[in-house]
Amino acid sequence: MIPLDVFGSESVAADLLEQVRWRDGVTCPRCRSDRTVRNGSYREFQRYLCKNCDRTFNDKTGTIFAHSKVALRRWLFSIYAFLRFNRLC
Ligand SMILES: [Zn+2]
Repeated sequence: MIPLDVFGSESVAADLLEQVRWRDGVTCPRCRSDRTVRNGSYREFQRYLCKNCDRTFNDKTGTIFAHSKVALRRWLFSIYAFLRFNRLC
């Protein structure tokens, strides 16, 4: 079940995305290497450095949320509301 505070806090939403996205471990979106290290942050989102190709990326890189001006927590709320409205969750 989605904790309701993800809709009110961007950092909680970012934590949820991080957990869901990297549940099998962090891999580079560009070269698929798992030789990655934590490398600061991008706003609320964890940044990583790939030691294989030297690129940096963050939790949102390569997802539908990456270039959106809409906050992640609002995306999650919209998706949640849609699923609830259609009785899918
Ligand atoms: Zn890489």
